[in-house]
Amino acid sequence: MSDDRARSRRSSTSASGSRRKFIARRKVCSFCADKIRIADYKDIKRLQRYISDRGKILPRRRTGTCARHQRGLTVAIKRARHLALLPFAAAHTRN
Ligand SMILES: [Zn+2]
Repeated sequence: MSDDRARSRRSSTSASGSRRKFIARRKVCSFCADKIRIADYKDIKRLQRYISDRGKILPRRRTGTCARHQRGLTVAIKRARHLALLPFAAAHTRN
């Protein structure tokens, strides 16, 4: 399921209504699941899943990554940014 991004910032408009906006679902760390020790900064496909559309690193509560892998992940993303594999910020689009 990849609808996490879609329902992230939308629920603030309706203050009243449903009591629980987020049903607690057991998220499992995908690095642990795939038995990856440390995130690879060259693995852009994987790293892209952990940055927002504005280029920010997603917090653990959004992705379900465990503390240990999140620590390695941030370093990997920052390395990838330095090599221009990942963006620092959203792309500048002029229209
Ligand atoms: Zn993990």
